[in-house]
Amino acid sequence: MAGIMKKLRNETERAKFEAARALRLQREQGKLGQLQNQRKDHVSALGEAVWELYQAGQVTDARLVSICTQIRATQQEIVTQEQGIEAIKQEQPPEPPSCPQCGREVSSSDAFCPGCGVAIALSATPLPAINNTSTQSCPQCRKPVRVGAAFCPACGARLTA
Ligand SMILES: [Zn+2]
Ligand SMILES: [Zn+2]
Repeated sequence: MAGIMKKLRNETERAKFEAARALRLQREQGKLGQLQNQRKDHVSALGEAVWELYQAGQVTDARLVSICTQIRATQQEIVTQEQGIEAIKQEQPPEPPSCPQCGREVSSSDAFCPGCGVAIALSATPLPAINNTSTQSCPQCRKPVRVGAAFCPACGARLTA
């Protein structure tokens, strides 16, 4: 009986010890991480200081010059990259095609301006199907035309009276 009690007590002590050790390890690992980060910060500051000396023409050591040359090249790439990003931000959506004569917005499928009837140079892109809001058809060529169009966009025939 006494032996069992002793065994239980030993196991409890051992579990306590393991829990305490895990906590200590966690705390000490955290401190180690902080120290490693501190070192990185110092090395980074050292690098910036050497970079400044290099720019002032005061670095002659071949290894340092080699690293500084790489920094210079990377900085130029950063500027180019920033300019590219700025250009993407400045991009405008493409203007819808418009009639060269009256300025009315036309569809890329129109061969003639529905507003003034002038012939429009067709783009090389395949013609999209005319949208289904059209309820009229051209009396001359029978193609569907948009409501309100004065001229047939397919053949240029005058539509309205
Ligand atoms: Zn027009
Ligand atoms: Zn027509």
